[in-house]
Amino acid sequence: MNEVIDEVRRGLLKKVTLGVVLIPVAGAALKTAVAADAPLVTADDPTAKALKYTTDASKATDAKPGSKCANCALYQGAAGSSQGGCLLFPGKSVMASGWCMSWAAKTT
Ligand code: SF4
Repeated sequence: MNEVIDEVRRGLLKKVTLGVVLIPVAGAALKTAVAADAPLVTADDPTAKALKYTTDASKATDAKPGSKCANCALYQGAAGSSQGGCLLFPGKSVMASGWCMSWAAKTT
C-alpha cells in the first residue's frame, strides 16, 4: 500500500516540478509574441506627433548622430530586432531604426 502511495507522490512531484520549470518559459515566449504582434506607432498618433517620432532616425534633424530606438533606454525590443515596444507607447511597437525627442542612451 505504501508503495502505491509513494508512486502517486513521485508522479505528482514530477508534474509539479515540470510546471514550475515551464511557466517562466511560457511567460517569456508569450511576452515576446505580444511585443512582436503589437501594431506599429503611426504618424497620426498624438504621442508620436508630440515627441516628433519618426521611423527613420537619420531623417530626424534634432537627433544626435547614432541615436535611434534600438539604442534607447526605453526600447523594449530584443537585441537585433527590427521593431519592439517602447515604454512611451504602451501596446504598440516602434521601429528599431526610429527616433523621438525622448531618446535616452541605453546604459548597459
Ligand atoms: S523613447 Fe526611445 S525607444 Fe521610444 S520612440 Fe523615443 S527613441 Fe524610440
